[in-house]
Amino acid sequence: MIDIFAEMGTRGHEQVVFCHDAETDLHGIIAIHSTALGPALGGTRVWTYDSIDAALIDVLRLSKGMTYKASLAGLDLGGGKAVLMKDPSRPLTLDTFRAYGRFIDGLGGQYVTAEDVGTNEEMMNAVRESTRHVTGGVYEGGYGDPSPITAIGVFEGIKAAAEAVFGSPDLQGRTVAVQGAGHVGAYIVKHLSGAGAKVVVSDIDRSKVDDAVARYGATPCAPDRILSSECDVYCPAALGGVINDRTIGKLRCRIVAGAANNPLGEERHADELGRRDILYIPDYAINAGGLIHVASEYLGASKEAALSKAVAIGQTIRRVIRVAREEGITTLAAANAMAEERIARARDRAPANA
Ligand code: NAD
Repeated sequence: MIDIFAEMGTRGHEQVVFCHDAETDLHGIIAIHSTALGPALGGTRVWTYDSIDAALIDVLRLSKGMTYKASLAGLDLGGGKAVLMKDPSRPLTLDTFRAYGRFIDGLGGQYVTAEDVGTNEEMMNAVRESTRHVTGGVYEGGYGDPSPITAIGVFEGIKAAAEAVFGSPDLQGRTVAVQGAGHVGAYIVKHLSGAGAKVVVSDIDRSKVDDAVARYGATPCAPDRILSSECDVYCPAALGGVINDRTIGKLRCRIVAGAANNPLGEERHADELGRRDILYIPDYAINAGGLIHVASEYLGASKEAALSKAVAIGQTIRRVIRVAREEGITTLAAANAMAEERIARARDRAPANA
């Protein structure tokens, strides 16, 4: 097993909680990266991992990402995430989620959960039977699906990127290749076509492409051609890891800006995009709309306030680009530095031993 304290030390984690309930087959890990800015908010992922080490590394990486996302979005929230390990032969039951909710409750609000890959509203409602530290649902007072707000932030971020590269945020006549027309991607296509962009869209689910073509006049593209299609903006809105050593040379765009989490195989690919004169907009900076939406529900802010904050993602992207250009660093390094600075200021203000 990996040296957990060494990993926590390197990544700067505050707390890692292992949750076990034999009766309901619960094997979970909650990682709280930082509470410097507020309670650690981040979704619960259900996944089949090859080993406990693999689950641990995943939850440590994801929770740290949430700290940066919340900080850059200007939210008074820290970063956390949880993973529940699933045996493919035994699906988790709602009782597992009720038991899991009791562990979350035991943390007294230090960690707040929401949906993520492998979880759904029904599961979150079961968690909610055991704790109030869960957000982003369809229960009474819940704000529901965050995807439309995520798409608005991505749209504003694309306009900011276009302004930096082409001198104008106007997308009229610009070609944008959208990879994935799912919950977020379909809304992105809608906004882009409404702004007069030529939208090329791909999805492995043909019915989603047909829908985008019929509703928004998008041009269909085969899934294996979208990354290399000639365009102004490549907008990944499906899987992570799409930009890697094998694919990076195939890009024919000036901007990479999309909703997908972790589109870069590794952080060094941000440097490589810079060398190729492609402006990369960091994922966690541009796709924070969903977090803003669920955070607003939890913190009691209105939906209107969440929408304004998502629109303001455009301003954040402009600042990230400006800092990167002024300092001669990548946009990813600039975003990281900006997020870290806000956390450091909060730590400086915190009373000792608080
Ligand atoms: P989704 O599952 O609804 O949509 C993903 C779509 O991608 C699906 O339609 C799927 O068929 C398609 N797809 C899968 N492989 C593909 C491929 N190789 N080529 C083309 N299409 C492919 O998910 P979503 O909620 O729309 O999220 C999309 C991305 O945005 C994910 O990376 C997610 O982590 C990220 N994200 C989502 C939100 C949100 O509010 N939903 C917030 C932040 C980040």
